[in-house]
Amino acid sequence: MNRPKAVVFDLGKVLLDFDYGRAARHLAAHSTASDLEIRAALDQSPLLHEYETGLLSTKDFFAEAVSRIGFKGDLPTFARFFADIFTPIDDMIALHGELRQAGVPTFIFSNTNELAIAHIRRAHGFFNNFTGYVLSYEETAMKPTPRIYEAVEKMTWLKGPELLYIDDRLENIEEGRRRGWQTVHHENSTATISAVRQAVSV
Ligand SMILES: [Mg+2]
Repeated sequence: MNRPKAVVFDLGKVLLDFDYGRAARHLAAHSTASDLEIRAALDQSPLLHEYETGLLSTKDFFAEAVSRIGFKGDLPTFARFFADIFTPIDDMIALHGELRQAGVPTFIFSNTNELAIAHIRRAHGFFNNFTGYVLSYEETAMKPTPRIYEAVEKMTWLKGPELLYIDDRLENIEEGRRRGWQTVHHENSTATISAVRQAVSV
């Protein structure tokens, strides 16, 4: 296999771990709903899916969440609780730093939302050091929809095996493979780091 010309990173569970339970606990202290009800309303819910597909603005998502969970606070307060759910995966962030040092272009490719990204930009400095970002709510498409993979190919000006793509979700990886991208199905940092170093020869 040829050396890839860019590395495309999924964000959640690859570079940042996340726990919506934490958001639900914090929101519950200011809501009529319990933390379990809040979790059901927000985590992996149709509401979150619409928001991450860019079909709902942050304002509309907030209004809908307030009415569903009975949150008693303003948007900045909600935003803080909702988005403060991430924990850095240090060895994977170090791998990204290594690739940048070696001059390899790197991209973020994520199903995500505006509140999460605003928080991550402030709280997790490494996130600002990528060559480019393909984000579901901006593209109005979620992985594994082919259209958002096309957005990666457009942004990078690369295709097929020129791209090396890391993601923890097999259905996302499968669409990458179908397009001829080199892929690493992320299961643990040790295996991913060795696969990426070998492919990129850093
Ligand atoms: Mg992920």
